[in-house]
Amino acid sequence: MNRTLTCIICPRGCTLQAHIENGTVTVTGNACRRGEEYGISECLHPMRTVTAVIGVVNRDGKALSVKTKDPIPKEHIFDLMAVLRGMTASAPVAIGDVICDNIYGTQVIATGSVE
Ligand code: SF4
Repeated sequence: MNRTLTCIICPRGCTLQAHIENGTVTVTGNACRRGEEYGISECLHPMRTVTAVIGVVNRDGKALSVKTKDPIPKEHIFDLMAVLRGMTASAPVAIGDVICDNIYGTQVIATGSVE
């Protein structure tokens, strides 16, 4: 099987050709090794960093932007979003604060702040 991918590791956005055969991925079109690693990962176990906005319980109408500290397996995104829909933070919150620890092998951290 062949796939065409756009490398999202840097702004150059190289077009990658991935050939998948017997569980082995061969990547061409990459300008650097990170692109090869991305192409292999994207074909075998795609990962994504998830961003969202959650409520702040003690600040009416305020919302807090959050993200996963590390990428999580793509197949868990919808489950994580369901968890995040029910998640709230308590102010004050600073950028980088851990909102939720150990979820899908990573943390949810604040990307904004609320006084
Ligand atoms: S292959 Fe390398 S140079 Fe090309 S977009 Fe990916 S990281 Fe950037």
